[in-house]
Amino acid sequence: MMGNYKRRDFLRSSTLGLAGAGMAMPVSQAIAQIPGDRPEQDRSLSVLNPRNRVPLSFIIDDSTCLVNMAYFGIPQFAEVFPDNYKQNWKLLPREIPDSFVRKFGEWCHEQGVKGKYSIVPYPACVGWVDRFLPGWSKKELEDSLHLVRTLMTPDWDIHPEMISHTRIIDTKTGRPYPEASEYFMENWRWTDDKSTDQIADYMAYALRILKNTGLDCEGITTPGGFGNRVLPELSQATFQSCRDVFQAEIPHYFRHLFTDERSVAPRVEYASGLDGSDPQCCVSIIGCTGDWFGGWDGLKLGSVERFITEDLQGGRMPEVINRGEPAVMVCHWPGIYYNGREFGFSIFKEVVRRLHEAYDHLIWMKLSEIARYWAARELTTIQRREDRILFTAPFACPQFTVSASDKNVAPQLVVDEQSVPLPKVKDALQLESGTWCEANEGLMICFDLPKGSSAIHLRKNSSS
Ligand SMILES: [Zn+2]
Repeated sequence: MMGNYKRRDFLRSSTLGLAGAGMAMPVSQAIAQIPGDRPEQDRSLSVLNPRNRVPLSFIIDDSTCLVNMAYFGIPQFAEVFPDNYKQNWKLLPREIPDSFVRKFGEWCHEQGVKGKYSIVPYPACVGWVDRFLPGWSKKELEDSLHLVRTLMTPDWDIHPEMISHTRIIDTKTGRPYPEASEYFMENWRWTDDKSTDQIADYMAYALRILKNTGLDCEGITTPGGFGNRVLPELSQATFQSCRDVFQAEIPHYFRHLFTDERSVAPRVEYASGLDGSDPQCCVSIIGCTGDWFGGWDGLKLGSVERFITEDLQGGRMPEVINRGEPAVMVCHWPGIYYNGREFGFSIFKEVVRRLHEAYDHLIWMKLSEIARYWAARELTTIQRREDRILFTAPFACPQFTVSASDKNVAPQLVVDEQSVPLPKVKDALQLESGTWCEANEGLMICFDLPKGSSAIHLRKNSSS
């Protein structure tokens, strides 16, 4: 896989793709995220949600090993904006213990919860997680990393956010810039005038630290307002840095969250080279709630009701789930821990209990899994040839689910000329990869979509 991915390659190829397709965009739209290439997809077929279930996920920001980002971060934020940060941070615990990470991680695993868990590489400039954390023993740091590697990574994507989440680090010296102003803080204005290469260099620095600890990343989380005024560069830099450091096939990032009527469907950006040996895109995963758990500092108690009401009808989650869009909740680790009282965790547990009681068609997914599904959903060529549906996929995708209006047929999956009859299941709720079911307007088919070409052969039932 390519190293040292130069922006020019990615940008040149994607704009080219656009120009080639005669879709010259007006300037205003050029500032927004460029979707890039989109293949032909036969409109008589629909790509449904995975297994025809609504994806759920949980975004955890400001988590890292041992360090309570609120305790160490607030004084650094207050140095820049004293009026905005008056919390008495010295009352907060300096540590969020591994015992709580274990308790939270095990409970989530039992419930099937999945999502993203940040590991801030140089948390509030306390210490480097790939070196040592002053105030903790080397063994404590190693045990903490081990816990993340063994308990968290199976269900959670790991993201940097970014290097320190406070001061901007000079990637040439590894030191914070001397100026404590909004222009040298990750949350605020440093990225305003930065190029894709400069932002990619900064992200890659963060990613390499996590790589040194044996953690894998396929995406990044932006701290505060990082990248807000340079969204095209942010998307391209995410692609460039995640490919460079981890050879991530489908890089993704978390920058946006919407709590209003705007769509929260993932955005597949800068797609290009779909038919070639190096298909590319970057996916923006959008959160659909604010932190209504315990706040970023663990001092602002939220409420279950904002997520889902007691009668299971109201709240933000039913709103998004009923739209059929991925419902991705957002929180901050200090708020889940809530300074040892775990109020954020209690709220989350009740939200999960209500969601599982209210719905039988949900599927918990990591952000990378949602990114892959949406990339496959939007970038797979889908053609209809008589009784065959032909797929040409730049990216493989598990549990890929499509619907067609055919009746009295027995679908077979055809890969490399091997034809495999798919067993029929009773209804959509039984859909698993490699099965199909009848649905009121035809049928639904769920299968592991391979990279490259494959087909579904809709053989007429001999009895019909
Ligand atoms: Zn954050």
